Amino acid sequence: MMTSPAGTFQWNPTRPRYRGAMTHLATMLVSVLATATSATEAPPTVHSISDISQEFTFYMDGRFHRQYLKDHGRDARNWGTLSKADLSNANLLILVAGNPRVPYSPASLDHVVEFVKDGGTLLLMGDGAEAMPPGQVIAEAFGAGFTTDRAIKPLSGAGELEGVDVFFHRGTCLRTSVDWSPLMKDRDGRAVLAARRFGDGHVVIGSRGLFGRKPDASDPINAAWVTPMLVDRADDKTIDPSRTPRPIRAELSRQIGPLKIEYHEGTEQFADGIHEVYTEVRPHLRELTGVEPSPGMIRSMLILPTGGGGFSSGVKIAIGAWWGNFPERRYPMVELVAHEAVHSWVLPHAEPLWNEPIATWLGIKTGQRMGHPEADATLERQITKARRLDPQLDAIDPLSDGAKRDLIWGKSYFVFEELERVHGPGAMAKYFQTKRSLLEPGRKGYTMDDCVAVWSNAVGEDLFPWFQSLAFDVDASRTDLAIRD
Ligand SMILES: [Zn+2]
Repeated sequence: MMTSPAGTFQWNPTRPRYRGAMTHLATMLVSVLATATSATEAPPTVHSISDISQEFTFYMDGRFHRQYLKDHGRDARNWGTLSKADLSNANLLILVAGNPRVPYSPASLDHVVEFVKDGGTLLLMGDGAEAMPPGQVIAEAFGAGFTTDRAIKPLSGAGELEGVDVFFHRGTCLRTSVDWSPLMKDRDGRAVLAARRFGDGHVVIGSRGLFGRKPDASDPINAAWVTPMLVDRADDKTIDPSRTPRPIRAELSRQIGPLKIEYHEGTEQFADGIHEVYTEVRPHLRELTGVEPSPGMIRSMLILPTGGGGFSSGVKIAIGAWWGNFPERRYPMVELVAHEAVHSWVLPHAEPLWNEPIATWLGIKTGQRMGHPEADATLERQITKARRLDPQLDAIDPLSDGAKRDLIWGKSYFVFEELERVHGPGAMAKYFQTKRSLLEPGRKGYTMDDCVAVWSNAVGEDLFPWFQSLAFDVDASRTDLAIRD
C-alpha cells in the first residue's frame, strides 16, 4: 500500500539553474563542475506537465521531473480531466500508456494533438501488451504504435543519440512510419524510442523501460541523453517563465455530508461506489475507536486512478479507484478506506511503531464486523508470519533496529487482539478516548512509552510489565504521562 504523502516534491527556487541556450555538452560539464563554474542564473525554459490523471504513480508525481528536468524547468502535475488542462504556457507534456480502466477520451486525444501542433513537445512512455494500453490511441494519432514484440538487448542509440550509453529495464518495440526517426534500436534494429516533428511541435515515443521508475527518484537512468533530448525540443516553444505552472486539480466534486468527493471524468465511474464504502465503514470506525475523527480531519476524499493503494494527509484521503480489483471485489476496498480514514483519527499524535498496522487492523476489524471472511484470513496470515520470526512473540523487540516488517505488523495485531481479549470488549475504544483526554493539544512527540502509559490508563492496569514480557523496550520512567490508579 502506498504511504508517501502527495506532492511532497515541489520546485525548489533556490536550486541553481543554467541558461537553456547552452549546448548540452556544456550543460553536462556544468553539472559535473557545478562548483567550479560561474553559470549565469536564468529562468527555466521548460514548463512541463506530468499527467497523473490517466494513471497515478508517485513516480510521475514529481520524481520524473526531479530525475530529468529539475535543472531546466518547472513541472506541475495534471490531476484533472486531461482535455480540460490548460497547456498554453507548457512546452512539454509527459504521458504514460495508462490503464485500460481510464481510456484517453477523444477530447483528451484532440487536446494532446492540438498541443503538439501549436509547438509543444509530447513524451509518451509505454509498452505494448496483449490488450493494448490506452496510450496506443495517442501513438496512433501521430502515426506510430506500440507492439507486443519484446525489445532484445543490447540497445544502441541512433541519429542524435548515436554512441550514447543505454540502460534498459525491458519493454517492447515500436511501429513507426517514414515520418519518424528512430533514436534507440534493439539488437535486431527495431525502434524502441523514436521522434518526429508534428505541426510546430515534436513527439517522442519510447519504451517505459528506458526511464526511471523508483518512487524515491534514485534511478535517473539515461539522464545524460534523456534530459537534452527533451529540453532541446521543448525549447522550440517559448513559455513565459514568470507564470509558474500550477497543479491542475481533479475538477469534479460533490459534497456528501461533511465530505467532499473529488474526481475527474475518468474516475467518476468509481466515485459513488467508493463513497458508499466509506459511509458503510465510518460507523464501525466510530464504534471501534469510541471517538469521532480528530477535529478538522477527513474533509475530502480524492479518487485516484490507480490500483496501487492510497494515502492520507489527515484532512484529505486519497483512494486508489481499483484497489484490490474494486468494484468486483469489495473487502480490499473496505480495508483500504478504513485504513486511510484511521489516519484522521490518530492525528495529530500519530501512533509510534504501529501507525500503519493500527490503521489496517482497524480496517480488518471493520471488515469482520461487515461479515467479510477475508478479514479473518488477513489477520491470521500476518500473525503467522510474525510467529515464524518470533514463535512465542516474546523474544524480538519490534522497536529494535532491523526488526522485520512482518514482525512489526504481526506483533502489533497480536497485541491489539490480546488487549481486546483480556481488557475488552471495547479496549481499543477506551484507548482512543483516553488518548484524546490525556494528551495536551500542543504536545510534541508521542513515544512508545507514552503509548503504553495511555493504554495503562485506558484499561486501569499498569501494562509496562506485559509489554516488556513481549520484548518491547518500554519504560514508565521515560514518559511524563502518569498512570492513574
Ligand atoms: Zn497508512
